[in-house]
Amino acid sequence: MTKFQDLSIKLKLISIQLFTTLFILVFFVGIYLYSQYHQYEVRAFTRMSTLAEVLGSNSISALLFFDNEAATDVLESLETQTDVLNAVVYDHRGDVFARFDRKGFTDYSFGLLDAERKSAGHGYFVLTKKIIFDDLKVGWIALRLDSSNRRSELLEAVWQSFLLFIAGIILAGLLSIRAQRPISDSIGKLAETAKQIKESGDYTIRVKSNSRDEIGLLVGSFNDMLGKIHDHEQHLEKLVAERTVELEAAKTKAEESDHLKSAFLASMSHELRTPLNSIIGFTGILLQGMAGPLSEEQTKQLSMVKGSASHLLELINDILDISKIESGRIQVYDEDFKVDLLLVMAVSSLRPFAEKKGLRLRHNIESNMPRLFSDKRRLEQVLLNLINNAIKFTDEGEIIVNSYLKEDFLYIDVIDTGIGISEKDLETIFETFRQIDTGLDRVKEGSGLGLAISKKLVELLSGNITVVSEPGVGSTFSVALPVTLEK
Ligand code: ADP
Repeated sequence: MTKFQDLSIKLKLISIQLFTTLFILVFFVGIYLYSQYHQYEVRAFTRMSTLAEVLGSNSISALLFFDNEAATDVLESLETQTDVLNAVVYDHRGDVFARFDRKGFTDYSFGLLDAERKSAGHGYFVLTKKIIFDDLKVGWIALRLDSSNRRSELLEAVWQSFLLFIAGIILAGLLSIRAQRPISDSIGKLAETAKQIKESGDYTIRVKSNSRDEIGLLVGSFNDMLGKIHDHEQHLEKLVAERTVELEAAKTKAEESDHLKSAFLASMSHELRTPLNSIIGFTGILLQGMAGPLSEEQTKQLSMVKGSASHLLELINDILDISKIESGRIQVYDEDFKVDLLLVMAVSSLRPFAEKKGLRLRHNIESNMPRLFSDKRRLEQVLLNLINNAIKFTDEGEIIVNSYLKEDFLYIDVIDTGIGISEKDLETIFETFRQIDTGLDRVKEGSGLGLAISKKLVELLSGNITVVSEPGVGSTFSVALPVTLEK
């Protein structure tokens, strides 16, 4: 069943008015019926009192002259009063002097006469009254009146009230339907407009209302709010348009500078790498003594020139790589190659550097290595960087390159027994230009780009790179690549 609070305002108002009317009608009809019931008795006793008065005074002379017949005649006049059942005139001693009994109601006894009395019995009223002459009681008159009409009269009043009641309810219903209209129509219009605005998003719609009451105030505030929202919306649209223009300008500018940056990098690549390569090449020639013998000091100085130039070249290559990766211009060239061969080559090429530091560098490759379909050159770059780091950051012990297959992934672990990395630094080593500050003089050269480039390259090859390390014990860098080709 629908709850009262779920009804529409219109139905709520109608039902409140109907219930109020119903309550008032029940209240007043109740009072009316009660007074009708009571009035019947009052009227009956008033009439009996008048009758007793008249009959008593008409019987005085008969009582004074002991003329029973005359008194009986007086009482006979009651024949026309059809509801009078019994009437008795008593003499001053209280003996019956004359009586009138309606047919079927004979010999009714009024009992002891000691005081004037009014009483209501079952279906009748009784009244006794003294008959006074010259301030002397000369006898009594007693009357009994039929009251069975009282019930039917009450029923008739109930029926009339019921008809009035129904008419009242219908009238109240009709009136309340009309009376609630100004209130429910305004609220309904407000709700309907709010719904319309919600669906269409059109804040130019307004609600019309002529009333100056609270609803008028509500409608006015609602319209004001709509105006403000509309203004705000327009202001926002204008702002968005302005910002879009600004953003577009910034985008064009960014694209232009990106273009300039690429051009700069390309030219830097050419302009810097070419002379550097020739510096490295020619110092190599000089160092080999191809241009004549060198003193020890000259050899030392030229080796430093060659070392610095190589480092500079590495740095430039790293910067170029990271720029290409960050601008998304790096290309991956997938090819089919034997991964175990690549690992053996990488380890062999770096072994002399490890041995120069008194370190052992070995590989441990599972026999079932698959052929990979990936960018061989980039994977090699990553491996060389990891092994190089391992050599750089290990002073004693060994470096092992492990490779194995696990759940469709090829794993390459580079394990060293070096200085290790603290937990705090592990979070940042893959960021660009990050080098851990060891507190010691920086004796290890590098750009702080190697790991950032390696991570991005491995991700480009759909793999990932992780590290576990313990300071003073060593580190394990692990590359995982999806196996895309069966061996
Ligand atoms: P860098 O060119 O300085 O080697 P990387 O990005 O390759 O730059 O490495 C960043 C930093 O991570 C290094 O400076 C070093 O502090 C730390 N790191 C890298 N590999 C190792 C390793 N195997 N053992 C200890 N520290 C390492």
